[in-house]
Amino acid sequence: MNKSSLTNVILLLVVLAGAVAYLLDDPDKNDPVKNKKLQAALTAEPAPQLEVPKDPFAELEMATYRRIVAAYTTGDFDGALKLSNQALAAPEASPAFKDWLTRQWPVLMTSVAWMKIKTQDCDEASKIFYKVLGVAQVPEAQKGLGFCLRVSKNWPEAASYLATYVLARPEDIEGRLIYSDTLESLGRFDEAVTILEGAQTAGEGQEAAMSELAKQRLQAMKAKAKSGAKQKTERSEHFYVSYREDDHEAILRPVLDILEAAVQEYSEIFGVAPPSTPVEVILYRKEEFRDVIPGGPGWAEGVFDGRMRIPVASHMLNQVQGPLATVLRHELSHALLSLRSNGRAWPTWFDEGTAQYLSCRQRDCDQFRFPPTPGVFSPVDTLNQPFVTLDSVEAGRAYLHSLYMVRGIVRKKGELGFTDVASRVPATGPLTSEFIAEISGWDSFALLWRDVNAWWGQKEIL
Ligand SMILES: [Zn+2]
Repeated sequence: MNKSSLTNVILLLVVLAGAVAYLLDDPDKNDPVKNKKLQAALTAEPAPQLEVPKDPFAELEMATYRRIVAAYTTGDFDGALKLSNQALAAPEASPAFKDWLTRQWPVLMTSVAWMKIKTQDCDEASKIFYKVLGVAQVPEAQKGLGFCLRVSKNWPEAASYLATYVLARPEDIEGRLIYSDTLESLGRFDEAVTILEGAQTAGEGQEAAMSELAKQRLQAMKAKAKSGAKQKTERSEHFYVSYREDDHEAILRPVLDILEAAVQEYSEIFGVAPPSTPVEVILYRKEEFRDVIPGGPGWAEGVFDGRMRIPVASHMLNQVQGPLATVLRHELSHALLSLRSNGRAWPTWFDEGTAQYLSCRQRDCDQFRFPPTPGVFSPVDTLNQPFVTLDSVEAGRAYLHSLYMVRGIVRKKGELGFTDVASRVPATGPLTSEFIAEISGWDSFALLWRDVNAWWGQKEIL
């Protein structure tokens, strides 16, 4: 491919529109770096134009040309590619038409690969992107490949593609968010700050929500860069732990042991294989935690946002098997459930109830304590909404009631309930309370809630 045809290709590249509306109740819907929901945020919307030929082709070829354009503009990229390949293989095709077809090939392939990302098939998408990048430097292929490499936690290679992409498309805030997040995984905080700073000026004409996100991310990244200077990383079989050398060196081994034991334990309960890529864990000083997680509730003892972020208070350092182990085991439950659902949100009561149940399983805290005045049981709406929106008292109640719900399921189904839920996660669509209730042996979630509410009223110890 010569330089001018390469330029043509680049001019004609698919344009990725920003986030596309999906899962309306998802608070992170515009966030391209949280969990795997970002795959939806990255959905490609190719510009509906292929190169218009300078001189018309012969009549028959014009007909084929129009069919290719029609298929492409209606989003049938596979169809457009197939037509294009057939036309290219035809012995009677004119040199001009062949040239045109050849120039469109990377565009068509890039769009086909983005559709694979949309269906969460990064393996297939990556193969295609590698092929495309073998013949043309298509920025959108670099973005897609960088994104998929990041999903498979190949951070160094992801960073190199995303770096090239951000140079080519400096105005794309979404690309900057994904790139800076990858740099964070590599501990390259200062570079991440620079990339996010670029988003403050580059983002004109982009979605306001995306610019706002970049602003928040920049603040947090600056705090991380400050504390990150002393941050070191350690890899174990299933984890990639980042910690402060000065504060956490002594607890690193026991922390890894707790995590490795828990990942085996939980995988057995869920009836799934342990994660094939490392789970990221970051240990913070308690005092710096609020700067790192802006907007997070003050009462949070840990956060899972795709990474397990754990604030370590000084009193935890002396007895790692106590509250610190509970927090680690709690966030790990979120991490594994999130992997199981491919990033889709679970009903809050189930996510938080399971995390509390598993974190204390077969440990000192493994018993349900009724408060002195139990009060009324949280209504369904409260149990289904994200608890971060609640004040600390309401949140405390919602957590306790979530645990009670999950213990209610265990009473009815035993721990096999977790296996059944985890093994029957639907491939697509939201994960609902109805789904969990029905798998756990109730006819509906309303009936599950009714039973648990009655047990609560009778102060049954579950
Ligand atoms: Zn939690």
